[in-house]
Amino acid sequence: FFFFFFFFFPTFLPSQFSRTLPLTGIPLAATVAFSLSDLSRCSHSLTLDLAAMATSAFGTTTATSNYRNGGAANARNLPKNSSVKSKTGVRKSAPGSLGGGGAASSSSKDDAGVPGRVRVAVRLRPRNAEEMVADADFADCVELQPELKRLKLRKNNWDSDTYEFDEVLTEFASQKRVYEVVAKPVVESVLDGYNGTVMAYGQTGTGKTYTVGQLGDEDMAARGIMVRAMEDILAGVSLETDSISVSYMQLYMETIQDLLDPTNDNISIVEDHKTGDVSLPGATQVEIRDHHSFLEILKLGEDHRFAANTKLNTESSRSHAILMVNLRRFVKGKDSAVSSENSSSLQTVKSLKPSVVRKAKLVVVDLAGSERIHKSGSEGHTLEEAKSINLSLSALGKCINALAENSPHIPVRDSKLTRLLRDSFGGTARTSLVITVGPSPRHRGETASTIMFGQRAMKVENMLKLKEEFDYKSLSRRLDIQLDKLIAEHERQQKIFEDEIERLTAEAERQLSDAERNYVQALEKERSKYQKEYLESIKKLEEKWIMNQRKSVNDENKLRHKDVGSNVLPNAKESKVAPMEENPEMKKLLEKETAHRKAVEEEVWTLKTQLAESRRSEALQSSEIVKLRKMLDDEAHQKEKLEMEIGKLQSHLLQLSVEADETRRQLDSGGSEEVLSGLDSLLHQPRQPQSDNSETGDKESVAKLFEQVGLHKILSLLEAEDADVRIHAVKVVANLAAEEANQEKIVEAGGLTSLLKLLISSEDETIHRVAAGAIANLAMSETNQELIMAQGGVRLLSNTASSAEDPQTLRMVAGAIANLCGNDKLQMKLRGEGGIKALLGMVRCRHPDVLSQVARGIANFAKCESRASAQGVKAGRSLLIEDGALPWIVQNANNEAASVRRHIELALCHLAQHEANSRDMINGGAVWEMVRISRDCPREDIRSLAHRTLTSSHSFQAEMRRLG
Ligand code: ADP
Ligand code: MG
Repeated sequence: FFFFFFFFFPTFLPSQFSRTLPLTGIPLAATVAFSLSDLSRCSHSLTLDLAAMATSAFGTTTATSNYRNGGAANARNLPKNSSVKSKTGVRKSAPGSLGGGGAASSSSKDDAGVPGRVRVAVRLRPRNAEEMVADADFADCVELQPELKRLKLRKNNWDSDTYEFDEVLTEFASQKRVYEVVAKPVVESVLDGYNGTVMAYGQTGTGKTYTVGQLGDEDMAARGIMVRAMEDILAGVSLETDSISVSYMQLYMETIQDLLDPTNDNISIVEDHKTGDVSLPGATQVEIRDHHSFLEILKLGEDHRFAANTKLNTESSRSHAILMVNLRRFVKGKDSAVSSENSSSLQTVKSLKPSVVRKAKLVVVDLAGSERIHKSGSEGHTLEEAKSINLSLSALGKCINALAENSPHIPVRDSKLTRLLRDSFGGTARTSLVITVGPSPRHRGETASTIMFGQRAMKVENMLKLKEEFDYKSLSRRLDIQLDKLIAEHERQQKIFEDEIERLTAEAERQLSDAERNYVQALEKERSKYQKEYLESIKKLEEKWIMNQRKSVNDENKLRHKDVGSNVLPNAKESKVAPMEENPEMKKLLEKETAHRKAVEEEVWTLKTQLAESRRSEALQSSEIVKLRKMLDDEAHQKEKLEMEIGKLQSHLLQLSVEADETRRQLDSGGSEEVLSGLDSLLHQPRQPQSDNSETGDKESVAKLFEQVGLHKILSLLEAEDADVRIHAVKVVANLAAEEANQEKIVEAGGLTSLLKLLISSEDETIHRVAAGAIANLAMSETNQELIMAQGGVRLLSNTASSAEDPQTLRMVAGAIANLCGNDKLQMKLRGEGGIKALLGMVRCRHPDVLSQVARGIANFAKCESRASAQGVKAGRSLLIEDGALPWIVQNANNEAASVRRHIELALCHLAQHEANSRDMINGGAVWEMVRISRDCPREDIRSLAHRTLTSSHSFQAEMRRLG
């Protein structure tokens, strides 16, 4: 009752990237969610015959080809010579599929695929030499009407059955024409990125190998489908960007042997349950560069096939030969041009867009002879061996019957061949079948059975899907280049800036020292000038003074000679008068001196202002320097920010690669090379050899990634402030939680608690959806279920359910609760906390995915209850009935979605097993549903459970009798 929720949440890059990267929101081819319940629910879309014909492998859209063959019965009932009318109409295809590849759950338009029915051509071999003789007197058992695309199988001389095919190829049809109508459209489709299959079916000796595998060594015109297909592929690809590799195998007695390496004789089939892709990682893959090397491969394969069959004592007609051509094409994104060289801003990164890689596969199968080995010993085999030899072919027949009849169960797993071809019938591949018949009336029985096989195969509907994914590897390379460029540009600018600062500083210093020197020089000059002047004037004054002195002495002497005998007083008077007489001259001198001094003072003042001026300019310059310093600091800050941005970018890159790795792993289960090389580019580690076990290789790499990023760090980001970061982180955690191996680590690191917290703390519906999905995945283990309950998880989920709008959110929440419903120990608590009510509340959204989860939860709950009642632990009415689930159960017991129906049928059977519930069930009209289930349910086990329950219950018996 538990099933694995698988998610791939396309991660949105935060900040500027989210707006420009085109990968956001586009579901990848690899994101097809796939589960067992989806497989059984898988109802292919209704397809209009005309639409199907328009895309038909045979491409012919003539009036007659529009006739959809309603099976042999239709054709057989046609009156002879009556014209066949075109019958177009809507036809529901098989609900299950050999492939199941997931048309199933994806609701997105991009993923829906193109309807394409399996195309069937019939080819008649010309009579061979032996038949010419032995059947000389008899007419051929078949008659072809190629223009009407009809084949008549003679019953006796006067009556025959008529069958329609997509193409009828007479014994005269050339190999070229056979290739063109049978295989060419498939090959073209493979070149466009779809998977394709070409198969030949028929009795041994009717020309399967001639049609498919003829090399045409001697006669170029005889080249078969394999050779011509490779010619077209080589012509259609560009080997510079694209690659072609082939494997060639033989399937015999449920063992796959490598025809390119005979020692490799037990190759296993690896299926990716998430994408439905099938691969044979153990088979030798040879890269094809030219047609010659391909022919060599085919010849080598033929030689090994012959040797292997000799060793096994069998004929090649008993084994299936399988050629697998893997094509990897590179489709350049529209805006992928990297920005111009000189642009240095982050803008440039915005324009990056990942390219797309198309990985399609062409499978060409030369089936074993369709005739039965009735007896053991015919080829020296025991009965057991004989059974095993036929196993794959008869399983293929059964699957095709089941698909043609829209049966709910397709026994794909019964044989290796059907597992290998799961994509070819009812899957996503374009498939073309050529059935080969011989003309001899002696083999009428085998011919008739071959025709019937072809008729049934024509009813199988496929859903063609583009096998395309983003080329994260080259995107990551381009981002790396951009990063390097940005870093280099930044360093260059930094250098220029620093040089400029240095230059300016040097210039300022030089100017400053010049100014200082000039000032000192000027000062010195002035000083010496005034000193000189001062000294000169002193000297002049002294001279004058001496002269005056002398003059006064002379005058005195004269006076003395004139006035002899006069007293000293007049002398004294005279001496006193002398300076008085000199006074005007002295005064003049003094005035002059004063004026001079004033001039000097003025000069000094001017010099002082000059000095102040130069000081001011010095200050100005130093403030300029401060400004420049600040700019430098700003620039350093800017650099830091850029480095942080780079760090962020790198972490996104890492993230992107984690997802790319996840995607790739889903796409190529076993395609270890891609995965590893993707991780390689991330981890810069040497490429691991191809022969490594891919599974462990992947896990190791994931483990390394864990180490690099750190789970705790990722979990801590769940509480980040930036909403983008939170969404991003929760998606990463959800993707990790989808991997069983990571679940324990996530819970140990507190991830479950953080996820539950997100349900209350966040308002964002995306976060709710993703977190609930992760919780649903974690809720698969019993321990985690208890943890979820203990942390009040049911209430949180219920609240989320009541506020959610998006069906996918509801699906996740319902899935989580449904998982909890399957735990015997938690029944009472779950119900007490409103788990059942929450489930029932979600049916307001009528999306089948949600209903299916609700139904699953109810079935889980009913089953546990039924177990508890049987063990005597529980008595009384079912809690489901107490909580009012019964009316919904009854209403939906015949829901058109098989997954809803199946769970409810089971729930009803469990509820009906206890008398305590019978009254309510009878009143609620559940008896009728039980009766219907016991009669019509396509599942044998449920049908008989319902029948047993009805017959063993007295109340039900009484009610049925009452109702007659
Ligand atoms: P199968 O693979 O179905 O057992 P083969 O391809 O080996 O049959 O064919 C048996 C024989 O019939 C071969 O010798 C082959 O060359 C011949 N043959 C088959 N189909 C044709 C055809 N359309 N024209 C000429 N010869 C044919
Ligand atoms: Mg053959």
